[in-house]
Amino acid sequence: MSKSVLPFRQIHLDFHTSEQIVGVGAAFDPEAFADTLVRAHVDSVTCFARCHHGWLYYDSKLTPERRHPHLSTDLLRRQIEVCHDHGIRVPIYITVQWDHYSADQHPEWLARDEEGRPFGTPTFEAGFYRRLCVGSPYRDFLEAHTREVLELLPVDGLFFDIVHPLPCACRHCRQAMDERGMNPARLADRHTYGRLLIDAFKREMTALVRGLSPDCAVFYNAGHIGPRDRASARAYTHWELESLPSGGWGYLHFPIAQRYARTLGLECLGMTGKFHTSWGDFHSFKNQAALEYECFRMLALGAKCSVGDQLPPSGALDEPVYELIGAVYGGVAQKEAWCRGARPLNDIAVLSPEEFAEPDAARLPQPAMGAERMLDEGGHQFDIVDSQADFGAYQLLVLPDTIPVDAALARKLGAYLAGGGALIATFESGLAPGKEGFALPQLGVELAGEGPRDARGELVRGRHFPNGDYTEYLRPGAAVGSGLPPTEHAMYMRGLEVRADADAEVLAVTVASHFDRSYRHFSSHRQSPASGQVRGPAIVRRDRAIYFAHPIFSQYAQNAPRWCKQLFLNAVAMLLPEPLLRHNGPSTLFATVNEQAAERRLVVHLLHYIPERRGADFDVIEEVIPLHNLEVSVRAERPVLRVATAPEGVELPFRAEKGRVRFTLPRLNGHQIVALELEVSTY
Ligand SMILES: [Zn+2]
Repeated sequence: MSKSVLPFRQIHLDFHTSEQIVGVGAAFDPEAFADTLVRAHVDSVTCFARCHHGWLYYDSKLTPERRHPHLSTDLLRRQIEVCHDHGIRVPIYITVQWDHYSADQHPEWLARDEEGRPFGTPTFEAGFYRRLCVGSPYRDFLEAHTREVLELLPVDGLFFDIVHPLPCACRHCRQAMDERGMNPARLADRHTYGRLLIDAFKREMTALVRGLSPDCAVFYNAGHIGPRDRASARAYTHWELESLPSGGWGYLHFPIAQRYARTLGLECLGMTGKFHTSWGDFHSFKNQAALEYECFRMLALGAKCSVGDQLPPSGALDEPVYELIGAVYGGVAQKEAWCRGARPLNDIAVLSPEEFAEPDAARLPQPAMGAERMLDEGGHQFDIVDSQADFGAYQLLVLPDTIPVDAALARKLGAYLAGGGALIATFESGLAPGKEGFALPQLGVELAGEGPRDARGELVRGRHFPNGDYTEYLRPGAAVGSGLPPTEHAMYMRGLEVRADADAEVLAVTVASHFDRSYRHFSSHRQSPASGQVRGPAIVRRDRAIYFAHPIFSQYAQNAPRWCKQLFLNAVAMLLPEPLLRHNGPSTLFATVNEQAAERRLVVHLLHYIPERRGADFDVIEEVIPLHNLEVSVRAERPVLRVATAPEGVELPFRAEKGRVRFTLPRLNGHQIVALELEVSTY
């Protein structure tokens, strides 16, 4: 089987198994194992060489003392052999930074913080989460172990887990930093070195792997893919996006990470789990509608699918889990002909705030979450990009809330605008890195003041105050306020104080409250009402650029005022009057447009599943709520010959006018692909 194209229906089969459990692998029946996978339509299963407990699940000659003490068979080899007999690929899992056995046996290999303590699980807590340092002699063991796996077993791929940069202050890292003229006592230097070390580790490990296997897949997992992974992208053969919506990632993580990852030129695999909560949640089941949504959304966004499970210690797969997975993977198998080689089509690119965030910032910045939601809810087609991307591939660029613009980025954005591109920037986006003023004169605004500070002297702009202490109001003009009452709308997070240039058009103004809320003056339960006094411009347009003074994306991520979204979508409509896709469905509809050039068709994915916060911990989906008579229009540059549902092949009547194809889907029951067959190009 080809190793260069990822299979669509994968399982990540965790197997972290304590040495205090006996009979490990005792119930492994190779034919039953493969048969269960085949019946569940699985075409790839990632199995374990070495787990977070540090145990091996194959007959090691190099380190027999690390073989699980109660492993009753040469499990990994037998898993691989029987899967290969059935045409199933088996990438091999190797833990990197979490290894309980090594942490206990070799404390000198542990990464250390500035107090000399290991990172991770404290002494009297359960868990194998102490981090090993790949700058220590642990690296020698890890390389020898990887070499043994490659020499001993047939290897389709390697999945190295827990490969994170760490601000390590261990003896080895301190010495290496001294040698490079860095200061190990400075946290910022340790973060910088930690990134250099982990990127070098990945490159060197891939070189080692390539010396023994010219074509096996290689992936390093850190639970996220973002702009910081670009530097080491050549060490990877593909991206796997670990993103269990109920396991701490939430439903917004996957689309944000995938819209970025797919711009880096490697194939992508989404990874969720069959668990109700997260990894290691035995005897629990994700609702089938949720698993459908998660897998079908991966297809819609151009990724293949992986579902995480954990093999019970006995080595026998849980049949009911594979009935659940099979029910969804059967659907994936039918749909994948419309996903193979598909390229996402996009009008818009959102510049990722992650590129500019602090090294220890949250995985998902608020402005990215707000932008993802607003654009999804508006039915827009977009990538998330970094400053290295080809901006010219998009009609509209969005700089959400916190994008600093240095001289190089200012030149690139200036050229993009001069070439006919359009730009929306909000809040502090567009300010020079020192925030002393705007680096983009094309926005048509200049900084008028830093705004108020709180009682402790901290700037209040852009911050969330639960009682709305520094709320001000936005009064929109008719165009940008379409669909909203022509009156004041609360802007809970304080905006930037700006002046509009004489040649810029003010689309909305900021109206001050009577006074900010503090112990000195307050009125009623929250912010004081609008005073009627205009404080300055709130939304400004200059040619093909629109600037919002308020952090509307962070605000939407905080508490989702519909007017923030409406104002933004109205601004998008001004700059992008003919978007790739329009629909008349509810804001809960998720829609994407892909192109399969070889098949000469556009592939529209429509999904309707509504995550609901039923318990305090995370969102769940229990049922599908069908939509009826969904009207969709798609911008098509070439004539369309036929519109039909896929895989069903039911033809839908359509109309073509003004460069758009319009059709009505009578019923959307969860996920539907609609294929638009294009006329063969004459040139
Ligand atoms: Zn270290």
